[in-house]
Amino acid sequence: MDLKKLLKSLENCPCGRLHTFDTKVVEIYSGLTKDAGKILAKAGFPKKLLLVADDNTFGVSEKEGLTKSLCRSGYELKKLIYKNMKYARVEQVREVEALASDVDGIISVGTGSLNDICRVASFEKDLPFCIFATAPSMDGFASDTAPIISNNFKESWKVRQPAVILADTKILAKAPVELKAAGYGDMVAKYLGILEWRIAHLLIDEYYCENVAQITLGALQKCIDLTDMVTKDSEEAAGAIMEALVLSGLAMKLALSSRPASGAEHVVSHYLECYKVARGIWPEFHGKKVGVATLKLCRLYRNIAQNVTEIHPRKDDPDWDEIYTHFTPDQLPDVKKLNNPSITDKVDPEHLRACWPQIRKMILEQVPDPDVLEDEMKRAGCATTLEEVHVSPELYEEALRYHAYMRYRILITRLLPMMGIDPMKYDC
Ligand SMILES: [Zn+2]
Ligand SMILES: [Zn+2]
Repeated sequence: MDLKKLLKSLENCPCGRLHTFDTKVVEIYSGLTKDAGKILAKAGFPKKLLLVADDNTFGVSEKEGLTKSLCRSGYELKKLIYKNMKYARVEQVREVEALASDVDGIISVGTGSLNDICRVASFEKDLPFCIFATAPSMDGFASDTAPIISNNFKESWKVRQPAVILADTKILAKAPVELKAAGYGDMVAKYLGILEWRIAHLLIDEYYCENVAQITLGALQKCIDLTDMVTKDSEEAAGAIMEALVLSGLAMKLALSSRPASGAEHVVSHYLECYKVARGIWPEFHGKKVGVATLKLCRLYRNIAQNVTEIHPRKDDPDWDEIYTHFTPDQLPDVKKLNNPSITDKVDPEHLRACWPQIRKMILEQVPDPDVLEDEMKRAGCATTLEEVHVSPELYEEALRYHAYMRYRILITRLLPMMGIDPMKYDC
């Protein structure tokens, strides 16, 4: 990926922001594994490394010769191989940190949680960090935050982007369909991320950059174009999803906000995840849940835009005592902080009323037809129903009503109470 060209194209951006990111090298191609050592050496990556993987990700990368390639280029490896890494817990972060005390860099071989624990450990030990991705499953590769579970409570830790991201499409194509489809599900969410970013810009003049939005939308379109190849053993499709996910992560850094990558669907998914993690239940893959939430919200938003032609908003007047009962004691301090002051303080009801025709138009033009999206998601092997992500209708209703209080952010769902709209009336 030509990162210099990408940054060059954003020079003197009309949004007024100086766009930049920390990631130096992104390489995704067929047969990359045998060159991994050379690429790292060329990038100036230090030679004494801690390699972190699990049995599965280590197995698939060894089949293509990863450690051989690294050793050939003079890399000295210390290894930490987990049995099966599903959750990124603070205990694992500390374990990686302890082992990293006598190395000069960390390479994480895998995806999701493995990358997250290494992302934190490398940041806290101030060591350069490389991801060798084995599945295109979510858009956190280039992220500078990491979701870490501490005492069954999911926290978002601010860290640093990886210096190097590598992926071999031979390995990506062979990843389980569930993971590739999860990556696709995480990408379709960008329809809503960009829409709600634009609405926030319109309503409260929140910072917005059309160039960054277009980078994300372009990456999304490439995934849509390859819909029918996602479930196949296709290097082209797996590589395109991987590239789209990395670009989406870089876009967040360019915008200094997660706006280009996530809207209400990510927050709904976050509500569901916190609910399950607090009860010790496996929360399903990130992109799998996010995809289902995207489809549900596309239907909701279009139903509202089609049926509600006029609104008479009033000042937001939430029943905070009632709202707070829908969060665990661990969540409450954060949730209270995020709502004091409340984001809706910035929304003038009269301005919202005046903007409604334009918001409706944006929804109808930018939110895909849910039947078309559902068909595409099914063809790509994605989950499309609540049952497939093990969420009951009751839990979903709770998530739909209360998720928006987990962010200090304008989301359409957060505006519905001001507009006097009950989301459940349009959720079908
Ligand atoms: Zn810009
Ligand atoms: Zn995501």
